[in-house]
Amino acid sequence: MANSDKTIAIAGAGIAGLTLAIALAKFGFRVVVAEKQTVPSEYGAGLQISPNARRVLNMLGLDENFAANSFAPEAIDIYPHNAEKPINSVQLGAFASQRYNGIPYAVAHRADLLNCLYRAAKKFANIDMHFGVEDIDTTPAANGVSIILKDQRGTPYPVTARALIGADGVRSPTRINHVNGQAPKFTGYIAWRTLMPLTHLDAHLSTIHTSLFWGPDYHVVVYPLPHQQRANVALFTRHSRKNVSREDEIALDPNRISIKKNNILSAFLDSFYDQFTLWPLFGVNCETWYKGNIALIGDAAHAMLPFQAQGAAMGMEDAGLLAVLLAGEANNAKAFAQYQKLRKPRVDKVQQQSAKNGKIFHMRPPKAWARDFVVARQSPDAQLKRLDWIYAHDPFEGMLDKSNTA
Ligand SMILES: Cc1cc2nc3c(=O)[nH]c(=O)nc-3n(C[C@H](O)[C@H](O)[C@H](O)COP(=O)(O)OP(=O)(O)OC[C@H]3O[C@@H](n4cnc5c(N)ncnc54)[C@H](O)[C@@H]3O)c2cc1C
Repeated sequence: MANSDKTIAIAGAGIAGLTLAIALAKFGFRVVVAEKQTVPSEYGAGLQISPNARRVLNMLGLDENFAANSFAPEAIDIYPHNAEKPINSVQLGAFASQRYNGIPYAVAHRADLLNCLYRAAKKFANIDMHFGVEDIDTTPAANGVSIILKDQRGTPYPVTARALIGADGVRSPTRINHVNGQAPKFTGYIAWRTLMPLTHLDAHLSTIHTSLFWGPDYHVVVYPLPHQQRANVALFTRHSRKNVSREDEIALDPNRISIKKNNILSAFLDSFYDQFTLWPLFGVNCETWYKGNIALIGDAAHAMLPFQAQGAAMGMEDAGLLAVLLAGEANNAKAFAQYQKLRKPRVDKVQQQSAKNGKIFHMRPPKAWARDFVVARQSPDAQLKRLDWIYAHDPFEGMLDKSNTA
């Protein structure tokens, strides 16, 4: 095999890109990662890491490292609008772990996960990471891709690779420039995110449970990050335009007024209103995830609403599976076709589930009353049973015995 056949270039050192880099390095590939940020990007807030995503981390040998930098909540308490006591709790903790072969449902800060991946990637001599890359000049070739990475000074770094994988997020230049993909579309939702001291959570909610509030045209997710002495708060509202400023929010937003009818949320908003960061949420629907020797993973291929907490998880599943397929099949066209065939139906279904959750969480009365009536009477395992198809999924099922990891 020529040297370039053993080299894979990755655009983006985010969650999907670093997961792929480590997985490929374990199969003996030389991996060149090009990231536009000058340091590993620690932006973002909390992430729920469900058992299906954790399965990929465990396959990379990162189980203990991630466990030390995350937290496994005991349950998800569900609060409908105006309620100050949960109407039901989805059992997590040992209950969920037992259900998913000992794999827990955890929460972490995005930086906890990214640092865990970055530190692991740094240990591989066959992963070559470049930060502060301003341009990835890519020329597709019959047997691979010729790439010239350029930093701020324009210093060129040439790479000849078997393939380029775009893990460059929702706005992916790889998708737009090389895979005939479109620009991302505004979903009509905005996320407000903040981290508050754990002590503040203590006064209002459980510090070992996740709390989920449903209300007319909004929902809120709160979870503790005890290893950081902080709690993550994510509040989601609907908007007709993406350019919402903080001033608009304060003056105009009817959602905030209805949120304020809940005393717990009202307390959070009053104390931390100035600290919320607004994130307009964009989605990506890309029919084909590859072209020639260039393919997409993670948000670059399928950014979705975060209402099933699966965006990062899907990127990690993509990465783990694509590494296995590239290791087992020297022909990129065959490996990419198999990758899309195995991944796209599942990702489409998760994307639809996320959008459906938005409609359910944000219902207004009288539909909301019917929803709450049903949920209040569900058994502790009903929600997990409904979501087993997501959490119990093993992207490598039957495949790892056939491949050789280092
Ligand atoms: C409010 C909110 C809550 C969420 N909660 C969850 C959750 O609980 N669980 C979950 O699984 N997911 C969640 N998600 C989704 C999750 O954050 C994303 O799906 C995930 O971060 C995508 O990972 P990625 O690696 O594909 O992209 P990113 O993490 O965005 O990484 C892309 C990387 O590419 C780099 N890049 C961009 N352009 C270039 C370029 N031209 N050249 C080189 N590098 C480039 C970027 O700098 C970045 O480092 C949430 C999202 C939001 C907005």
